[in-house]
Amino acid sequence: MRLVFNNRQHSVGHGFFHSATIKIKDEKRRKEQRFHYVYDCGGSKKGLDQEVKNYLRMDLRDDPLDAIFVSHLHRDHVSGFGRLLKKRRAKYVFLPYLTPVERLIIAAQMIGEGIGFNQELTLFPVRWFSKRADKVIQVSKGQGGGEFPFPEDPPPSPDRPIDFGKTLKYQTIHQSSHETIEAASQRIYPIEKMWDSDPVILPGLWLFALYVAKPRKNRLSEFVDELADELPSIGVPLLSKKVDEEEFYAKAQSILSNRKKRGKLAKCYGKVFGEKRLNGTSLCLCSSPLIQADWVPKDAPLKVVFPFGLVDRSTSKVSWLGTGDAELRKEKDIREFVYHYQSLLDHVHTVSLPHHGSIDNFHPGLVGATNPMEVFVTCPENSDHHPAPDVISRLRSVGISLKKVTDDGIGFHQVFEVHYGKASNS
Ligand SMILES: [Zn+2]
Repeated sequence: MRLVFNNRQHSVGHGFFHSATIKIKDEKRRKEQRFHYVYDCGGSKKGLDQEVKNYLRMDLRDDPLDAIFVSHLHRDHVSGFGRLLKKRRAKYVFLPYLTPVERLIIAAQMIGEGIGFNQELTLFPVRWFSKRADKVIQVSKGQGGGEFPFPEDPPPSPDRPIDFGKTLKYQTIHQSSHETIEAASQRIYPIEKMWDSDPVILPGLWLFALYVAKPRKNRLSEFVDELADELPSIGVPLLSKKVDEEEFYAKAQSILSNRKKRGKLAKCYGKVFGEKRLNGTSLCLCSSPLIQADWVPKDAPLKVVFPFGLVDRSTSKVSWLGTGDAELRKEKDIREFVYHYQSLLDHVHTVSLPHHGSIDNFHPGLVGATNPMEVFVTCPENSDHHPAPDVISRLRSVGISLKKVTDDGIGFHQVFEVHYGKASNS
């Protein structure tokens, strides 16, 4: 019996499109069960469309898309979801909770930079995803963290094949009633919320540990004050912090449809944040098999297979850690991040550097704490700051050669296999 973790970083230039398939193969019964997920789907490159097409045709085939994780709503991380979800409905979507102000800032920023974007996806993401997925879960920064409990579910074995079920377990925040949204004709969708300190579990097999990275000082209230002056119809209600989502979206849309008001919105952004691109809230993902649990036999060999060769090694480093565009440069931020993930760090094999290797998001503690086998960034073929030369040289000084996933069409593909049972079973 084999567990196979097949993951791919697609070649989309300055963007992020990660997909993975978790497979349970039972050779005796000639059965295979698959779980597919995607972490971000965006890129500036024209080839993104082709990458999405290939993913649908070659990886997903006739299977459902089980889960989507969204780091944040910048275009380079979400621009491919429209195409992807047009072809395949998703079962679960996990995205960070963003306040209306945070969403408006993202829109203002993209207007200022002259980037086209999907209005509903940016300003009202839960509604946009609700039309294309069965469940939408907003993830908020929780209290504490630092321990991800491993559940008691029985492990798979040849004698006891587990019911894959593909039903994720997670703890929703208890509320008197779920928020609901009328997203498509006649359908009311509940919007669920969870804390990032609770795990998302594929029972018996897999753990998705989420982390909401929040910038510490983001001057949101300054931005709202500017808005209240320049665009009072939306700025004044935002001051009160009690905003109806539908109303907010209607007002935002009316601003975006008016050239003069759009200009004012971009001006508010420029006045508060200047030329610099603000990295807002970002959802990080640690994807890990439940190999830490006691039930994996000590002599079970873990075979790590790469496309260009075969490596056998006895290791428990198979987890994948993605950081989106998180701001992790400050000592405090990296410390909080490391504390949150401490129970999983020993098992991290691959790390994606935040924000395409920008120096403004980088702290050496990220690789120091995880000691990964692979570190990569997604970036255009030629850029002088993604990744930053200083980041490359800092990593080199500790013996890490940074992998770049550019728009050359090659991408970065990894296959991990865990053989259950006796070592000779492979
Ligand atoms: Zn980005």
